[in-house]
Amino acid sequence: MIYLDNAATTKTAPEVVEAMLPYFTERFGNPSTIYGPGTEAKKAVNEARRILADALGAKQEEIYFTAGGSEADNWALKAAADAFRDKGKHIITTKIEHHAILHTCEYLEKQGFEVTYLPVDQDGLVDPEAVRAAIRPDTILISVMLANNEIGTIEPVGQIGEIARENGILFHTDAVQAFGQIPINVDQLHIDMLSASAHKLNGPKGIGMLYIRTGVKIRSLIHGGSQERNRRAGTENVPGIVGFGAAVSRAVRIMEEKIQKETALRDYLIERVEKEIPYCRLNGHRTQRLPGNANFAFRFIEGESMLIMLDMKGICASSGSACTSGSLDPSHVLLAIGLKHEIAHGSLRITLSEENTREEMDVVVEELKKIVQKLRDMSPLYQDFMARQENRD
Ligand SMILES: *Cc1c(COP(=O)(O)O)cnc(C)c1O
Repeated sequence: MIYLDNAATTKTAPEVVEAMLPYFTERFGNPSTIYGPGTEAKKAVNEARRILADALGAKQEEIYFTAGGSEADNWALKAAADAFRDKGKHIITTKIEHHAILHTCEYLEKQGFEVTYLPVDQDGLVDPEAVRAAIRPDTILISVMLANNEIGTIEPVGQIGEIARENGILFHTDAVQAFGQIPINVDQLHIDMLSASAHKLNGPKGIGMLYIRTGVKIRSLIHGGSQERNRRAGTENVPGIVGFGAAVSRAVRIMEEKIQKETALRDYLIERVEKEIPYCRLNGHRTQRLPGNANFAFRFIEGESMLIMLDMKGICASSGSACTSGSLDPSHVLLAIGLKHEIAHGSLRITLSEENTREEMDVVVEELKKIVQKLRDMSPLYQDFMARQENRD
């Protein structure tokens, strides 16, 4: 199997699993208790919190564990809206956010908030000046993702954070795709709140975090006990938290090497695909993109068919059409960068890990060439197009 869908989820690293195991068995205690196994668990939770804080340039007490990236996004937006509703009801975000942000914004619109969804350019970049221009006296929150999960574009979050700060507006970023992949410092980027998730960086599923800068007064989303300094109730997912800590410490340790390796593989793949497969384009910014992300649009192709045929060859990837989720609409991200429906449907997302090799890229390119040709040979649109090309000559 060649696994090329690391933006969907990653394999839990063996050292992460190993770090987690004792917290299911001998160190099973509830961190809120005062005897041996409980205090051991509490120590481990705080150690993980320290690792996460250090990785972000934050303070330990600014890290709150959640049940994943989606919960962190929901919390940031809903709680900020709730805390500042007397000041105003306007929120600024973008058209290319993850559904955890977009669907939360739609929910808030139903609650009487107004949301501006900023457009992006053809590379998927948000213009910081457009953020500035969208600010109103009643704007209470700006949320712009750090890196996009489909096209990999890295947003100018530092500039946007600075604009938010100048205007006294809270700034949240969904860093789920970026955390552990590229360096992040919450002070340098002027971030007030940041969402992350362990399973996107070789940690376990179902554990995430929200960074909340000291002084940001938002309340709890999950009510109950006094865990997480009264801000997120529920007995801690101790093995998950320990796994998240181990995954982040691993990610920090290997980051430089991982970035170099994945960038080289990504660029090799992009170069070969662009050179060897006609009528194809790269989606997303060519250089301002996540090291492991390549996203292509192949004309005259149905992405889902491409995925099925790749799967038959043992290759796991993802597409920009959403047939599998029961919708015929292509991805909102691909539409936002200006792709026509039929072209967006022919998109393929390949997301790498540090374990992928050049040989695997060669296999993928060779298989893709065959698959694309086969599908085009069956496509009436392609036949028409070719006939017109010939007539022109
Ligand atoms: C995966 C992802 C999420 C959701 O995280 P979960 O931990 O799966 O809930 C949110 N935002 C982005 C950008 C993602 O890639």
